[in-house]
Amino acid sequence: MEKITYSKWDDEVQESLNHELKDFMDVIKWAYQTYEEDILYACSFGAEGIVLTDLISKVNPHATVVFLDTDLHFKETYQLIEKIKKRYPKLHVKITRPALTLAQQAEEHGDKLWERNPNQCCYIRKIEPLEKELNEVEAWISGLRREQSANRANTEYINKDNQFKKVKICPLIHWTWEDVWTYIELNKLDYNELHDQNYPSIGCEKCTLPVFNDSDSRAGRWSSFEKNECGLHQ
Ligand code: SF4
Repeated sequence: MEKITYSKWDDEVQESLNHELKDFMDVIKWAYQTYEEDILYACSFGAEGIVLTDLISKVNPHATVVFLDTDLHFKETYQLIEKIKKRYPKLHVKITRPALTLAQQAEEHGDKLWERNPNQCCYIRKIEPLEKELNEVEAWISGLRREQSANRANTEYINKDNQFKKVKICPLIHWTWEDVWTYIELNKLDYNELHDQNYPSIGCEKCTLPVFNDSDSRAGRWSSFEKNECGLHQ
């Protein structure tokens, strides 16, 4: 199968790849065969994240998995990452941090920026750090699923990422929430304990609330704002 890059993007190649790749495993295998060391998986270690980490480890046990540590995650998330490192010792779990510490951010932009301007806070603590990591590779993998939200409903296996100017690969687009949890249970994967406390989608502690209806799995994120994406996916 052909390789596609952002700088030599070809809609016909994208279309034929999206058609030829049969399922999630086919997508993951193609991704690592095609980009070899030139690809990373950006993982927040939510439910989809641990599934994808497990699947990727079967294809490339030495894959690079990047976690954007905003310094504001739940303690349960940090605990889960330690379990992941033990379960997959060959994976390169890379923790990347923002250029500004929380104290520096408060000094430059004021205290509790997430309460006043979450877009700017996400930009400093998530988007810039991911951009720095993506500067080193041609492609990245994400655990987006189409049913997660209206914004994600048109995601393809292979996507042109105009924000980061990379190829974005999303193997799990057709998975349902039930598929994710069936896989977790069958494979006895460790998962974030907050999922058992009505947190379907888990981000920073300051911006994540539990959800008590099943209308939108991301309803608990930035619930006081007209915002349901951190800006990594446009
Ligand atoms: S999710 Fe909230 S706390 Fe985390 S980076 Fe974005 S605005 Fe800041």
